[in-house]
Order: sequence, then C-alpha cells, then structure tokens
Amino acid sequence: MESIKDARSIISKSHYLAALTGAGISAGSGIPAFRGRGGLWQVYDPALARIDVFRDNPHLVWDMTRELIALIEGSEPNPAHRALAEMERGGVLKGLVTQNIDNLHQRAGSRSIIELHGTIGNLRCLTCNTVFNSADFKIMDEDPLCPHCSAVLKPGMVFFGEALPFGALMEARLLAGTADAMLIIGTSAVVNPAAELPVVAKGNRAKIIEINIEPTGLTNSITDVFIRGRAEEVLPDLLGTMPPHG
Ligand code: NAD
Ligand code: ZN
Repeated sequence: MESIKDARSIISKSHYLAALTGAGISAGSGIPAFRGRGGLWQVYDPALARIDVFRDNPHLVWDMTRELIALIEGSEPNPAHRALAEMERGGVLKGLVTQNIDNLHQRAGSRSIIELHGTIGNLRCLTCNTVFNSADFKIMDEDPLCPHCSAVLKPGMVFFGEALPFGALMEARLLAGTADAMLIIGTSAVVNPAAELPVVAKGNRAKIIEINIEPTGLTNSITDVFIRGRAEEVLPDLLGTMPPHG
C-alpha cells in the first residue's frame, strides 16, 4: 500500500515520534468504541458516567463500572498495542498519549504512557483526594471505601463534568509540541483537549500519520498520510516493513 510506504518514510526520518490513541485501537481486543452500533454506550450509560451522578449515587455508578471492568479484564492487548510497545523498545516511539482507560498499552509492554482520561487501574477519594491502586481493593465484590475517610472511592477514569488530570494534560501538550511526527490511531478526534494535540503537533511542523477504519475531521485538514484500515492489522504491517531507524 502506497500510504504505508509514505508513513514508513516519515517515521524513518523522524527524530521524535509521538502517538495518540483512542478507543479504536482496542476494538481489536473486543472492547467496542463508545459511539455507534454495538457501542459501549449501550452497556455503559453516558447519563450515569457523570461526576454529579456519582456523588449522589455512587452505588449505581459502581454497578455499571463493574460491567465495564469485567469486559476489559476479559480482554487482551492486540497486535496494535504490541507494535507500539515494540516501537518504544526500539527507540523509535518517544511517547504515547492515550484516551483509553483500559490499561492495554501497559499490558502490552509500553512504558512511556500519558493517560489523558484516567484509568480503571486507579481509584480516587473525592473527600481527601487520595489516589489508590484498584488492585488493593475487592472492587468486583463491593464498593471500595477510602481507608482514611470511609467515602466510596471513585473509579479512576475521568467522568463527564470532571477536570482532566492536569499533569497528564501538560505532559501531553509538551509531547505534541516536541514531536516531529505523530501517529493518530483509532480516534475520531472530536473530544477536546485530546483533539487539539494533533493540531499542536502540526503547528510545530510535525508530520501527521492517521490510522483509522474511516476518515475523521483530521483526515482532510491536517493529516499528511491517511492509512485506512484496522489498527491491529496496519500497525504490525508498518512495523514489519520499517527500515532500521536513523
Ligand atoms: P473515539 O474518538 O475514541 O472513536 C473511535 C474511533 O476508532 C473512530 O474514529 C473509529 O472509526 C475508529 N476505529 C474503530 N475500530 C477501529 C480499528 N479496529 N482500527 C482503527 N480505528 C478504529 O471515540 P469514542 O469511542 O466515542 O470514545 C470517546 C472516549 O471514550 C475516548 O476518550 C475513548 O478513548 C474513550 N473510550 C475508551 C475505551 C477504552 O479504554 N478501550 C473504550 C471506549 C471509549
Ligand atoms: Zn478519603
């Protein structure tokens, strides 16, 4: 495919490659994106994924969150996650920003990950603001309580109406502003501020490579190379055909 060749050429000339991933990279692991037919919103009601609803009725939100966690825990990283981890190990990929909360990049072996929308791996107390590791609680059996103040702990993903983690946002902007090439994978790029990261990168003259099963708002505006296809097929292909870096 011509676009794979073009992408390979950009990557091999790059000095600072970054990546931005969205729900589409985990579709191949059996975790559906939120929107559209068969979407996660049919399981995970957006009206409930709100911070005010959690404050009023944490139990209701936890029941729904457990379903989401069961789905995620029953899934495995796919070849797209593994290809990015391999690119990082090889020194090609310098950093990865994800909007996903599913921990699959970590499980695939990536280390330099900025989680913009939080993660199911954490819990946070809205009363004393302490962050805990989900693995230290029996979250599938009971609503976790803060050991300091007994409040019900909030799942670590960012809810509607909640601020994004400030440090992650700053790191993501810095990465986007430093990159000379950026891979945008499986995101419709409509949710801000994630959607502005490719624009920041482009403003810094980065080349934009986009991988998606369908065009997005970026495709005809700032994307330099659009590769139409499934991330779990395109990324291993791209990695497999890449010449030695440098
Ligand atoms: P999104 O912007 O993440 O949309 C998904 C995109 O992926 C679409 O553009 C779609 O065309 C593309 N896509 C679908 N399957 C693909 C594949 N196999 N390969 C490549 N591209 C593919 O929007 P959303 O799904 O509505 O999500 C909104 C927010 O919720 C984001 O923060 C998202 O990351 C998060 N979310 C996370 C998870 C997860 O952690 N796995 C799942 C659902 C949603
Ligand atoms: Zn507390």
